[in-house]
Order: sequence, then structure tokens, then C-alpha cells
Amino acid sequence: MDTEQLIRDVVKNVLLKLSQEGLIDSSSSIKQNQGKDRKIVTGVSVRHIHLCREHIDILFGKGYILNILRELYNPGYACKETLTIVGPKLTAIQNVRVLGPPRSKTQVELAKTDCIILGIDAPVRESGNVAGSGSCVLVGPKGAVYLEEGVIRANRHLHMSTADAEFYGIKDNQLVDIRVPGPKGLTFNNVQVRVAPDFKTEFHVDTDDGNAADLVNGSIVEIVDASCITALEPQMADSDKIPPTIPDASFVGEIQDPNVLKNICSIAAGVPVSTENIKQAVSQVITTTTTEKSKVLNKVDSNNLASNDSNLVQNSSLTKKILITVSDLDKYAQTGITVTKDVILSPLAKDEAIKRGIKVIYEFN
Ligand SMILES: [Zn+2]
Repeated sequence: MDTEQLIRDVVKNVLLKLSQEGLIDSSSSIKQNQGKDRKIVTGVSVRHIHLCREHIDILFGKGYILNILRELYNPGYACKETLTIVGPKLTAIQNVRVLGPPRSKTQVELAKTDCIILGIDAPVRESGNVAGSGSCVLVGPKGAVYLEEGVIRANRHLHMSTADAEFYGIKDNQLVDIRVPGPKGLTFNNVQVRVAPDFKTEFHVDTDDGNAADLVNGSIVEIVDASCITALEPQMADSDKIPPTIPDASFVGEIQDPNVLKNICSIAAGVPVSTENIKQAVSQVITTTTTEKSKVLNKVDSNNLASNDSNLVQNSSLTKKILITVSDLDKYAQTGITVTKDVILSPLAKDEAIKRGIKVIYEFN
């Protein structure tokens, strides 16, 4: 038991004894606690993914068991495994951490900035409520999954042990306000309290909220009562009063993950790959129905990535295609690369080949 908990227990028992002896009004003891020592610790949640069993099988292989990297402060663990998320704009975020244990439904938790990069309009939701939320493609080492719903921006929430909730006089699901000190200090509203016996008291925010207030893991913040402030309805100014936005061209990078390229190239089935082709291929994936999509993606999995010779991409018409990525360039250092209709040279590999002085010849027809 930590010192803080010990002090709370002692205070609680003293207050209880005093109230039993009629020396204080027992109803005021909780009120007193509400005003005091409401300092709690912060955990900043970086973008992450919870996976269901079915999706682990597709992304990492049948029966795959996730490896624990480290236990989290609250129940759960960070896994060694990461995935690439591809959005409808064909931009990707790589190395997104998987969190365990597996859940009944796959859930991707992003910050608003991540959503802007990926072009996903993800709603603010409490964890587990994914109906009608955002969609994306998840790419793993053994396959890809089209996730029709499951992308959310997690709401600000406060994990609380049952003992602490009782001490503070706070109930499960209650909304509280959290005050952050410092030069970027602010008060966060609409923080949902989630009480469970196995929780440790911890304020959870995403990286956008965390960065806005200069919060890091371990920052001490305070539960405050801002209920005296009148609630505001979200509003927009009249159109003539809206300041112009600066045009955004901050993310124009091509996908560089060979897994993404291999999956997408084989979806494109036989067409020499260019950024434009990749875009088309994925928009096809994203506009077909879910069942068709998972069929296509499973096929990619079994035909392409499970194969030992990862250079051979087999398409639906059973013609063998050769996919050349950066890691294959050494093999072509002497001979140069001849791109025919049966050879797919990834955009990154093309740039790298030119940089290394490897000759690239195009022969179509
Ligand atoms: Zn949490």
C-alpha cells in the first residue's frame, strides 16, 4: 500500500469515528474531501489499436499470440507488435502499437491530428462504443483488414479505483473537470469518470489534448468543480466572420511500408504501380462492400505475404508478377532493372535505384 493511500485510509477512519461520535456532520466529510487533495496522475495515450481474435489471425497469422512489451499502469499491456494504418487519402501511419489483451471488437484510437493525416472523420467516443465510427485499412506482416467501423478519438476519461471514487464522492460515468497547471495550463471539461475495483486513479488524454497542455505521463493534475460555470453549446460564427484557413500541404509523403505496397500492388493486380495506381487500388478497396473487401484482402494475404518468396506476387489471373522494393535492389546492382508489364517497381525503390546509379529501363507492350 502506498503512503498516499495510507493517509487517505487514516483520514477516512478518523472522519468516520468523529461522525459516529456526533462530533462532525457525516455528510460534510465527503464535501471536505471534494475540496482537498484531488491531485491525480496523468497518462497520455499515444495512438493505438485493440484487436479482436479474428483480426489477429489475419494480420499476424492463424493462432498468433501477441507478445507483451510492458504492462500498463491500468489493466492491459502494450504489445511488441505494431501495425500500419492506411486511410482513404492513401496516407499511412506506421508502427502503431497494438494493446492487449484481445477484445471482442477491433478498436483504433487516434488523436485528431492523426485523423487529419489519414483523412478519417473519427467521432469522440468512450472506449468500446464503436457503432458507426470511422473506417481504415490495417496492414500487418501477414495480411490486411478493412475495418468498416472502429476508428474513434477516445473521450477524455478518468480511471478511478472504487476506494478513491468513494473518498472523493465521485460516481462512475460522472463528468468532471480537470485543471492543469503551468504556462499552457487549462481546464479540461467533460472528463468521464470510470470506476472499477481494479483501476488505478489516472487521467487519460490523447496526444493532442496532452500536447495542448504540455502534459506528459506522470504530470499531476487536479479534479476541480467547474459545475458553477454555465454549460456552453458548440457554436459557429456567421460565414462572413470565419477567419480564412491556411492551405494545408503538411503531409504529402508516399507510403513507404513494403507491406502496404505489397498488399496494394497485388490488389492492383497486374498494373505497373504508380502513386496514381495505388490510389485507385485502395479507393476500389474502400468502395467495394465489406465482405468483398475482406475476401480481396484475405486473398492478398494467402497469395502474397504468406508465400516464402515475397518477390512473387500472384494476381487473380494467375500471372506471376515480380515486385521490386528497396530491399531487393542489391540483386539488380549489376544487371539494372527492366520494368515490363510483369514487373512492379515500387516508387521508393525507383527513386533509390536512380540514387544508387542502377539503370532502370521501361519495356511495355
Ligand atoms: Zn483509459
